Amino acid sequence: MKKIQPVRGTHDLFGDSYNKKFFIEKEASNLIGLYGYNEIETPILEYLDVFTNSLGVASDIVSKEMFTLTTSKGNQIALRPEGTAGVARAFVSNGLAQFLPLKLFYKGPMFRRERPQKGRLRQFHQIGIEYLGDNSFFADIEVISIANKFLHKLGLSEKFKLEINSLGDLESRESYTHDLKRFLKEKKKDLSNDSLMRLDKNPLRILDSKDKNDIKILSDAPVFSDYLNSPSKEFYTNLKLGLDDLGIEYIENPKLVRGLDYYCHTAFEFISNQIGSQGTILAGGRYDGLIQRMGGNSTSGVGWAAGIERLSLLIKTRILQNKTISIIFTSNKLLPKAFSLAEQLRSLDIKTDIIFSGNIKKQLKRANKVKSFAAIIVGEDELINNNIILKDLSDSSQKEIKIDNLIEEVKKIL
Ligand code: ATP
Ligand code: MG
Repeated sequence: MKKIQPVRGTHDLFGDSYNKKFFIEKEASNLIGLYGYNEIETPILEYLDVFTNSLGVASDIVSKEMFTLTTSKGNQIALRPEGTAGVARAFVSNGLAQFLPLKLFYKGPMFRRERPQKGRLRQFHQIGIEYLGDNSFFADIEVISIANKFLHKLGLSEKFKLEINSLGDLESRESYTHDLKRFLKEKKKDLSNDSLMRLDKNPLRILDSKDKNDIKILSDAPVFSDYLNSPSKEFYTNLKLGLDDLGIEYIENPKLVRGLDYYCHTAFEFISNQIGSQGTILAGGRYDGLIQRMGGNSTSGVGWAAGIERLSLLIKTRILQNKTISIIFTSNKLLPKAFSLAEQLRSLDIKTDIIFSGNIKKQLKRANKVKSFAAIIVGEDELINNNIILKDLSDSSQKEIKIDNLIEEVKKIL
């Protein structure tokens, strides 16, 4: 029989892949909590409208990447492709406006029907933050600085760069889109098919085209920064000054657009060049119009989302620090001693694994397999003097120690 497989573009998480995800989520919750963000968990299933109304029908996600289903009553439901729309929906459904300003954090699986490849899955996981109800550039600076801190905390300091751009307010965006469209219409016959399709509905997205010929055409296209009206310019300048003050380095990329309708002013991406072509590890921006699109009162917002699988590609297994210690005993009657030593170690938060079967050679092999940093060997001869053997598995050296000194000795090699 053919071996049963997971659905294309989905993965089982266990061992290193699970540990990396756990590590990333733990670092994120600890850090983001310190900035006063509270976790929110919204359903994976939402009515399709939640996404069409917010992301826009012409966005890549809505036009081609969603997994949808129809209920027996004829309601259209989608597996969420991203987190912000659901948070905005929850904000409106639960009347959370009374708690503004609101700082929220979420994590969980997202679903997109894309061609699976390295760093691109159909079920993937995101961590994200949303800062609702503050329309000042200070909020953008805070949100970007949290992202920056988070990536440093994961040990990725040398592995990414930050790109920023401003999409301006609605007025600036409309006048830019108008001129961009006019420019591209003149080049219509040379544009790629994908870009042609976007020309009327989502022309800004053409700036993001990966087609060589499109890129050549775009090198002469009008530039966003020339179209920012003065409040938009001021907002962007203040953002950059704030990032300078915090010592956060960035590159201005005038072609950086986010593919979703709800963005304005700030757009940013943290990009790595070490994981191939799917290099964006964290992305976000300001979305002042979103809550209103969802049927709430006008409420500003800014946030980001990071892709856990892409971050995992950058994280070295060794930083997951396996601090397991193994306990081995040489005869059955020593089991109670092994148990009591294990409890002592666990009470100090040291992961402890008792190995029950096999001869010493096999037991040591197993200790190495579970990647223990040390093994304690409980043997009858040593116990007579209240001693045990402590073996450092990083170099296989071992010594006989007093049981009373166990914790002290273990800490030396931890
Ligand atoms: P891309 O341009 O790579 O398609 P995107 O603009 O669609 O990215 P966002 O919607 O901004 O991505 O999602 C935020 C982050 O989530 C991305 O930067 C990425 O790290 C991750 N991500 C998005 N789509 C996928 C996917 N299909 N598989 C794995 N991670 C993803
Ligand atoms: Mg995408």
